[in-house]
Amino acid sequence: MARRVVIRTDGAARGNPGPASAGAVIIDADGDAAAARRPDAAPIATVSEFLGRQTNNVAEYTAVLRALEVAAEIGAREVDLILDANLLVEQLHGRWKVKDAKLAPLHAEARRRLAGFERWSAVQEPRARNTAADALANEAIDRALAGGPALVIRRPDGSGGHDPRPPRAAADGAPGADALPPRTALATDPELEPGFDPGDAGPDPGRLVVTILGSGTSGGVPRISCGCATCTSTDPRDRRTRASAVLAYAETRVLIDAGPDLRAQALATGLDRLDAVLLTHEHADAVGGLDDLRRFNEIRGDYLEVRALPDTLAIVVDRFRYAFVPGQRRFGGLPMLRPVELAGPFTVRGRRFVPIPVVHGDRTIAGYRTGGFAYCSDVQRIDADGRVLLRGLEVLVLSALRDVPHPTHQTVAQALELIADLRPERAILTHLDHELLHAGLTARLPAGVEVAYDGLTVELRS
Ligand SMILES: [Zn+2]
Ligand SMILES: [Zn+2]
Repeated sequence: MARRVVIRTDGAARGNPGPASAGAVIIDADGDAAAARRPDAAPIATVSEFLGRQTNNVAEYTAVLRALEVAAEIGAREVDLILDANLLVEQLHGRWKVKDAKLAPLHAEARRRLAGFERWSAVQEPRARNTAADALANEAIDRALAGGPALVIRRPDGSGGHDPRPPRAAADGAPGADALPPRTALATDPELEPGFDPGDAGPDPGRLVVTILGSGTSGGVPRISCGCATCTSTDPRDRRTRASAVLAYAETRVLIDAGPDLRAQALATGLDRLDAVLLTHEHADAVGGLDDLRRFNEIRGDYLEVRALPDTLAIVVDRFRYAFVPGQRRFGGLPMLRPVELAGPFTVRGRRFVPIPVVHGDRTIAGYRTGGFAYCSDVQRIDADGRVLLRGLEVLVLSALRDVPHPTHQTVAQALELIADLRPERAILTHLDHELLHAGLTARLPAGVEVAYDGLTVELRS
């Protein structure tokens, strides 16, 4: 633990924007403060993170944010930042205005985090003296392009080399996420087959009502033991359980994702039956509540189908082996789930659904469209093959994690860019982390875009 630290950071982008990364070294300055400021001072913690495609300034800001996060984690109360980007030094001090809309939220977040320390300073030094941070940033791009982990943090607790948590597990709480199979592509071409209408709701769809069961990221909001503005907010919309939604039409109820809060969500919204479960992917925040589906087996008096992409399903069936046993004695206390692999559009009790390819980290997961409604969570990116299926929507529910770039989730700004391209009549942001206060985020969104909250109900025209 170091009370006082020197932080050197660097952001790199090969192209502006282009593949980008953040590097940082954190040096203990409790003892010889002058020695801690030498370029070759040995760090007690380092950060090396690939950020995907970003501008150089976004990478520079992200490096500062990451380093401040690690400094706070190791108990620092005073931080001295040494940066080679003069723009950041001037903006952090409030001497230069932040004109770039992409940087404004990052700047605000950096100022907020700096205010949490007892004292801070920021100075500029030439890149030649910031070689350690520069090397960590460049290493991240090379490592990620070679298929290595996006994030490597080395901390003073001796966890050398790679962050002991695999990056996706750190982000999504998924055990064994580093062992995921490579991306699976849905059989969808950017050029739709003649006559294929992704908005065709099927022969007898019934009017759709969607309820957001949970609007939070993998750790939920509030986070355990966090004193931030969102986690201590008295606005009930800032209490977010893990992301999930239920689609209701006629007597039918279709659940999208069964996270660890499923039981509480069902009780809170009066969910009293289920006819099918659609999974976006197998991260723990999307499947941690599968066990609680057994109550819906009792209500149905039968097996419940769980639909997912083949790679997702293979992992889920393996992890919840006891729940996918065919021919079980009725209601012996175990869930009775029937796995159904996604292989294109399908129908649940008269309503047609179209899987949407969504990029989450290095693989493709599933979003879902039915009629004029689509739900895409854990989105890092949606490519042309997904976008072609998301035109002409009445309502799009879309994830947006936070303002700071993340290796497997899109930011609010990126979500807004996607929305501007897809032009749904109404877009609702979900899977939100604690950096985003409901009221604060709502105030800066364009017309037609709103912030999800647990229990939000949306009625569609059809
Ligand atoms: Zn918090
Ligand atoms: Zn995920």
